[in-house]
Amino acid sequence: MAPEITRIETVEFAYRLEDVGTPPGGFDIVYDPGHTLERRLFATRVEASDGLAGAYVGSNSPGAAQTNTVADYLVGRNPLERERHWSELKRALRKYDRMGIGPLDIALWDYAGKRHDAPIHELLGTYRERLPAYASTYQGDRDGGLDSPEAYADFAETCRDTGYPGFKLHGWDGDWRDPDLLAAAVCAVGERVGDDLDLMVDPACDLDTFAEALAVGRACDEYGYFWYEDPYRDGGISGHAHRKLRQRLDTPLLQTEHVRGLEPATDFVDSEATDFVRADPEYDGGITGATKRARVAEGHGLDVEFHAPGPAQRHCMAATRTATTRTSSSPSTTRAVSRCPTAPASASSTTGSASRTTPSAGRSTSSRRGRWGHPDTLCRTIPTGCKGISSSQHSSRDRTRAREMEALGALAHGSLRSPFTSRRSLRSRLARGR
Ligand SMILES: [Mg+2]
Repeated sequence: MAPEITRIETVEFAYRLEDVGTPPGGFDIVYDPGHTLERRLFATRVEASDGLAGAYVGSNSPGAAQTNTVADYLVGRNPLERERHWSELKRALRKYDRMGIGPLDIALWDYAGKRHDAPIHELLGTYRERLPAYASTYQGDRDGGLDSPEAYADFAETCRDTGYPGFKLHGWDGDWRDPDLLAAAVCAVGERVGDDLDLMVDPACDLDTFAEALAVGRACDEYGYFWYEDPYRDGGISGHAHRKLRQRLDTPLLQTEHVRGLEPATDFVDSEATDFVRADPEYDGGITGATKRARVAEGHGLDVEFHAPGPAQRHCMAATRTATTRTSSSPSTTRAVSRCPTAPASASSTTGSASRTTPSAGRSTSSRRGRWGHPDTLCRTIPTGCKGISSSQHSSRDRTRAREMEALGALAHGSLRSPFTSRRSLRSRLARGR
């Protein structure tokens, strides 16, 4: 007898990050000693008639709103018919960016793994079981962390000594945005560890103009950077702009993180606007959608770079020959340091050992090289101290949304129990800053 989906629940929860904040006038996470940042995430759980459940922890409010909009469709249907559901949800969310599909699809894959008692990469078709990792960073700060090009270079050196084979830096966000400083950081890191590590830079669409993107890209060229990612304010979606950028740079571009939809991503690749193709299971319609994007890349003879370090990404990488699990051979040996900009004196004056206060992990930081074996679960660990905010439920017995969930810890395979209380109590605690 075919299984049926009996209940779907999404839960918003909050957790706190110590010593991080956002820059003035900016949005990205930076080192901010003494400040506590509250972050919110969603958890999605899909239960089936055979007693098994699939889960995913991730997503944000806009994505969860879409998930809740379409979740009722799945109740009563076969959880193993992922391709059919993906197609229907794609149509249902055609007016939006479809970010709500990912959590549901990943939860369905998690269910399938449990149903077949096999890791997801085996269901997809295993290509590898060990994955290398590169180190990534927060955005730069002005508070004793990544506060100068030299601080980035110090931290890159620490990562090299720790055993990472690659290092990716970001720039400075908000009022601290400075394309010359970013170019100087690209050069400082390249000068310090360029012979030892594969280097990447991600301005995260912070640069204002094409000219600034070109200048930072030329700094990458000087040091043989492995990739240059989402440089400027088109938001990473202009095929024309990135084709022109590719024509003027040697460093490979990594785009499509912000290109939503399989067809627009395919058009972007067809327009020769990127060298590496980015895919993200959460952003791109789950493991089903990310796998489709990976096949588009493969069909064009390109590699796919799975964004972020979660379990779903690791299963995709384990099942994709063309995933960027191997980086470049050797950096350029013909660089000309003199062409690189110089860091402003004010920014370099705070140089010190990056290991003293520099954040040791950023949003994409992964485990050490060779430590990624056996990706056999899709449930992320829910941060300790997280707090439930609200929940939505869809079930065959009661399709109304309302009840507070008391035990989100179940989504983490019982590994963590979190102090959930009522919504009113949580709001009052939040208002009191505790
Ligand atoms: Mg990025």
